[in-house]
Amino acid sequence: MSLVHLLLRHARQTPERPAIFYGTEPWATHGQWAQRSAGLARRMVAAGLVPGDRVVLFMRNQPRYLEILWAAWWAGLVVVPVNAKLHPREAEWIVANAGARWAFVTHDVVAEPLTGLERQIDVESDDCDDLLAPVNDAWAVPVVERGAQDLAWIFYTSGTTGRPKGVMLTHRNLMTMGLTYFIDVDPVSADDAMVYAAPMSHGAGIYAIPHLMAGARHVVPASGGVEPAELFALGQAIGPLSTFAAPTIVKRLVDHAEQHGIGPDASARAFKTIVYGGAPMYAADMARALRVMGPRFVQIYGQGETPMVGTALSRQQLADTSHPRWAERMASVGVAQTPVQVRVADVEGRSLPTGEVGEVLVKGDSVMAGYWKNPEASSAAVRDGWLFTGDVGCLDADGFLTLKDRSKDLIISGGSNIYPREVEEVLLTAPGVAEVAVVGVPDAEWGESVVAFVVMAPGLQTTTEALDQHCLAQMARFKRPKRYEIVTELPKNNYGKVLKTELRQRLASTAD
Ligand code: AMP
Repeated sequence: MSLVHLLLRHARQTPERPAIFYGTEPWATHGQWAQRSAGLARRMVAAGLVPGDRVVLFMRNQPRYLEILWAAWWAGLVVVPVNAKLHPREAEWIVANAGARWAFVTHDVVAEPLTGLERQIDVESDDCDDLLAPVNDAWAVPVVERGAQDLAWIFYTSGTTGRPKGVMLTHRNLMTMGLTYFIDVDPVSADDAMVYAAPMSHGAGIYAIPHLMAGARHVVPASGGVEPAELFALGQAIGPLSTFAAPTIVKRLVDHAEQHGIGPDASARAFKTIVYGGAPMYAADMARALRVMGPRFVQIYGQGETPMVGTALSRQQLADTSHPRWAERMASVGVAQTPVQVRVADVEGRSLPTGEVGEVLVKGDSVMAGYWKNPEASSAAVRDGWLFTGDVGCLDADGFLTLKDRSKDLIISGGSNIYPREVEEVLLTAPGVAEVAVVGVPDAEWGESVVAFVVMAPGLQTTTEALDQHCLAQMARFKRPKRYEIVTELPKNNYGKVLKTELRQRLASTAD
């Protein structure tokens, strides 16, 4: 079993079909893609790379990303895509930890040589042109076959605390993820087009797999990132796009649509499906997204350790506003995806009854093989095949999972549990509020008390009293923030996740 066969199938069946676009420009057909990946595979093997060796990709989104991934799999290598926003020193730490031999980079991401590598290739150099030069006899380049349990991808966690850990993903993990997309996320046809707006080192790049399975097109925006105007224009030019986006990106797309009077019909011409996940999407934001852009959203919940596979909230479930539990469902992350079981358990791993809050556990063929060179962390995270996600939530009678918070974000005040997410959901419905993050701060009387950081929409203002009135009208008194901080922005990591640790540190330093 090797992911490389996904490319070979289409290169044989439809070699002339356009496969990769850079902006609106055709970059490669399936046949050209295979010829370039085969060329690079042959040259990597000739240079002495052997099956199982690790190759780092430390680059911004670029069409060669796809050619390098499939070349590596052709040669039986393991890819280590690294977030392009990391500091070179952080990337060096990953290079060393993974024991990587080669790295492909873009010079805007890292201009200097990273230590510890045998070879560093700038993907926009002549050197790389030579390595990726197409070969006419692609079929003669032997595929280094791999077993289902062999590693395909080491994904380094974003590590909001401590050093990142290398999640070992096998060919089976990624094959499972790809096939599940069609059942639980979205059917895909060869006429579809996937656009890589979010970093290809993460979920967006992983979604290349189902799109290649279906023989669909792959589009890398010329800007290499998230420019809403560019994405809407690309969709109009190429045909409706599918994309994976974190909630912050969804928000930017929706803002753009609203500001430019792009309604559901015009949105449908630009976007087929927007899959969102990776961080909480607040119900108020999704209700607005559906209103502005129409029913083209699907939510997934997963983590690097079970990539893109955990639960999903389908387009139909999101759009079914007449369902009596629609509001609750919209605030949930949906139901278990087909190849996994999901349950909620206590600290000992015992299942909890419906409605009770505990840790979310996932079991199935998408669950990682463990953490690279870290057996202790591996056996703590996966026990009897169950992945302990570190996320806290509860299941309802229909199997919908609602996430509360990561266990470390839970606030305990006066002995009562307060889930920041609940308070955030309420504050987001206050007039003019654009973003919110709620954290706990040590409190001599209560153990912890609730502090809300609030970002207002441009040009709008509020007062602590107004926010407090809003909360008083909608939540138990003990849950409401004791303090409000109105700020211009929230600290976020490279994937757009709010860094609550940093907010807590900020409060601790002002308390001194
Ligand atoms: P990562 O491994 O970097 O992809 O981060 C995974 C974490 O992001 C999960 O453990 C959750 O805490 C969070 N997450 C992922 N998807 C969702 C979602 N749909 N809603 C809320 N949080 C999510």
